[in-house]
Amino acid sequence: MAPTSTAGQAPITVTLIPGDGIGPEVVSATTRVIEATGAPIVWEEQAAGAEVFRQGLASGVPQATIDSIKRTRVALKGPLETPVGFGEKSANVTLRKLFETFANIRPIREMPGVETPFSGRGIDLVVVRENVEDLYAGIEHMQTPDVAQCLKLMSRAGCERIVRTAFALAVAEERTTIHCATKANIMKLTEGLLKSVFEDVAREYPEIDAQHIIIDNAAHQLVRFPENFDVIVTTNMNGDILSDLTSGLVGGLGFAPSANLGTDVAIFEAVHGSAPKYAGKDAANPSAVLLSGVMLLRHLGFFDEAADVEQAIAVTLEQGIRTKDVSGPDGAVGTQAFADAVIANLGKRSSSYVSRNYAPIKLPQISRADGRSEPGSRRKVGVDIFVETDQSPADLGAALTAITEGTPYTLKMVSNRGTVVFPLTGAPTECIDHFRCRFLITEPAGWNQDSLLDLLKRVGEKYRWMHVEKLEEIDGAPGYTKAQGEN
Ligand code: NAP
Repeated sequence: MAPTSTAGQAPITVTLIPGDGIGPEVVSATTRVIEATGAPIVWEEQAAGAEVFRQGLASGVPQATIDSIKRTRVALKGPLETPVGFGEKSANVTLRKLFETFANIRPIREMPGVETPFSGRGIDLVVVRENVEDLYAGIEHMQTPDVAQCLKLMSRAGCERIVRTAFALAVAEERTTIHCATKANIMKLTEGLLKSVFEDVAREYPEIDAQHIIIDNAAHQLVRFPENFDVIVTTNMNGDILSDLTSGLVGGLGFAPSANLGTDVAIFEAVHGSAPKYAGKDAANPSAVLLSGVMLLRHLGFFDEAADVEQAIAVTLEQGIRTKDVSGPDGAVGTQAFADAVIANLGKRSSSYVSRNYAPIKLPQISRADGRSEPGSRRKVGVDIFVETDQSPADLGAALTAITEGTPYTLKMVSNRGTVVFPLTGAPTECIDHFRCRFLITEPAGWNQDSLLDLLKRVGEKYRWMHVEKLEEIDGAPGYTKAQGEN
C-alpha cells in the first residue's frame, strides 16, 4: 500500500551496495519493501567488498563507489566480507573512515513474536558508538619481533561529537536517560576524556538523566536489567562489543540495524556480517537490513513510510511468519517470503508494538577549532624512551642511570608492560624484552631539542630504542599516567 504523503516529490538517489554473502539477498528484500512504500527513492548500485578485493584493489572500495556516495550523501549497504589473503583493511571500516561517519547508531528493541529469555521486559535502547577513533583507527606496530602495539587515539573533538550526537538523539527520540560507558577507571586519559566531555555536555541537558557507568558493569547490568537502559554512548571498540551483546538480548543479529552518521554522509547497514554459510540459500533474516532501511527512510524525512515498514515487520512477526534464526527450521519462511509478507502487511498496525515518535536528529557541527583547547600552561617535564633488551631490570636501570650523567635528565623509573621494575620493587614481576624508561628533567632550563637528541643518542648507543614520548604538564596536571607501582 503506497502512502500518498510523498506523491509528486522529486526522487532521491541513494547509493546501494549489495555486499557479500547474504548481502545481496537481504538488501534486495529491503529495496523491494521500501519501493512498495512508495517512497521516491532511486537506487544507484555500486560495488565494494570481496569481489573488489579479488580484482586486486587493496582497499575493497572502488573510486566509482566513493564518487557515488560523495554525490548522493546517503547509502544502504549490505555486509562486506574482509577476505583473508586479499587486502588487509576492512572495506567497512574504510567506508566509515573515508566519509568520517563518526557516529554509529545501533538501536535494539524487543520485537513481538520473537521469544527470548528477556521477552516482556520492554527492551528499547540505542547504543551510540564512536565510529572513527579509538583502537579501531588501526594504528599498529610491531615494537619488537615479539611485542605488538595498537595506539588508542581519542580526541576532544571526537568525544564531543559523539556525546553531542547521543544527546541530540535522545531529544529527537524523546528518550530520557543516557549512560556514558567507559573504562575511565583504568584508561584515565583516553576513556577519561569521553567521561569528562560527557559530564560537561550533560550540564546543558538538565532534563536528561545522565549517568556514567564503567563498561564492564554496563555489560553486567545490560544482561540483568536491560530495560533500565535508554541511550548508551561509548567508545568505538566498547560500542562494537556492547552492541553485539544488546542484539543478543532481542533475538540476535538478525534484528540489529545501524546507521553510520557523519556531518555530510549517512551509511545504513545491518550490524551483522556476510554470514557466508547462509549465502545464496534464501535463509537469512532480512529484518536487520529492513530496520536499517527504516532508519534510512527517517533520515530522508519519510517518517510515515518508516513507521509503515516498522509496523509491517512487527505485524509479520505477530502473524508467526519468521525466518529460521527465530523459529528454528520447522515452519520457517525464506528471506524473500518474509519480505513478501512485510509488503503485504504495509499499512497495518501492530496490536502490541507502538512506534516511537521521531524527529530529525540535529547532528553537532564541531570544527577542528572547537575541539582545540587553549591551556594556560604547558611545561615539558621529561621523556619516556621505549627500548628492546633482554637485560635484567637491575642491569638496565644501572646502565641508564650511568647514561644520564652530565645530562639534564635523571632516570625516574623503568617499567615493563606498565609495571615498575626499576627501582627494584622486590615483587616477582615477569619481564619481556620491551621496557619503558622514564627520564625526568632535573634542570628545566636544560630542556631543548639538543639535550633530548643527545639523550636518545646515548641510549641508542647501548640499546635499540623504538618509541619516544615527550612528557608534558598541561595546566599543571601531568599529561601522562604513572606506571603501576610508580610513586
Ligand atoms: P556474521 O556474518 O554476522 O555471522 C555470524 C552469525 O550470526 C551467523 O553465522 C548467524 O548465526 C548469525 N547471523 C548473522 N546475520 C544473520 C541473519 N541476517 N540472519 C540469520 N542469522 C544471522 O559474522 P562473522 O561470521 O563473524 O563474519 C562474516 C564476515 O562478515 C567476515 O568477513 C566479517 O569480516 C564480515 N563482517 C562484516 C560486517 C559489516 O559489513 N558491517 C560486520 C561484521 C562482520 P548462526 O550461525 O547461529 O546461525
